[in-house]
Amino acid sequence: KNRGKIMKLAAVIVAGGSGKRFGAAKPKQFLILNKKPVFEWSIKAFKKLKECTDIILVVPQDRIDEMLKYKKQYGIEVVAGGKERFDSVKNGLKAVGKDIDLVAVHDAARPLITPEIIKNVMKAAYENGAAIAAVNSKDSVKFSKSGTKITKSLDRKNIWYAQTPQIFKKEIIEKAYAGRISASTTDDAQLVEKKGVKSTLVFASYENFKITEQTDFLLAQAILKKRGE
Ligand code: C5P
Repeated sequence: KNRGKIMKLAAVIVAGGSGKRFGAAKPKQFLILNKKPVFEWSIKAFKKLKECTDIILVVPQDRIDEMLKYKKQYGIEVVAGGKERFDSVKNGLKAVGKDIDLVAVHDAARPLITPEIIKNVMKAAYENGAAIAAVNSKDSVKFSKSGTKITKSLDRKNIWYAQTPQIFKKEIIEKAYAGRISASTTDDAQLVEKKGVKSTLVFASYENFKITEQTDFLLAQAILKKRGE
């Protein structure tokens, strides 16, 4: 159906969290990392793709005004987030244009994303409808119901850590976010799965981690430095 025509990607970059776990004065996605706020690194990565025609940045309501600078600089849209990640993604999706084929949802807290990874996930989503960046476990994996005793040892070959971007054909993600069914889901692939769509795993990079604690921030600084940033 789309043969010959270039696919159009919209990126919903979610930066609407309060960052309680990180314990800084500001939410982690607004801290300055190698001279740029954490969220700006993701904008730059998506901007490098010719397919990416729309970028929608989702931020807390009280930060909309200070985003004006980035809105102008990068030609992005800025919308207000919500209570849970689910609500923030849902608000972002409302701003996705009619002409878009694929929608990428990306955590602003993953500043080390690269255009190459986005491209690989995009290709898989184009072919299969749904695809996510992921890595498999380097450590042995234990399942525990009690949190103290091991219930079962799992085969780490079968364990994957879901990252972002998670990219979907527009109809698929819109259907998954219709209604306010399960706000407790932590990623988009899980919501899509509830609609019977199985996402494809695309091996990304261990560098594409989510900044969650102080150590992650230090590691991100070092990796960007190594990349010449
Ligand atoms: O809290 P966590 O690190 O899992 O959040 C993942 C991403 O989702 C972050 O970039 C965060 O800013 C975003 N988020 C959001 N709105 C919320 C909660 C989280 O946009 N209400």
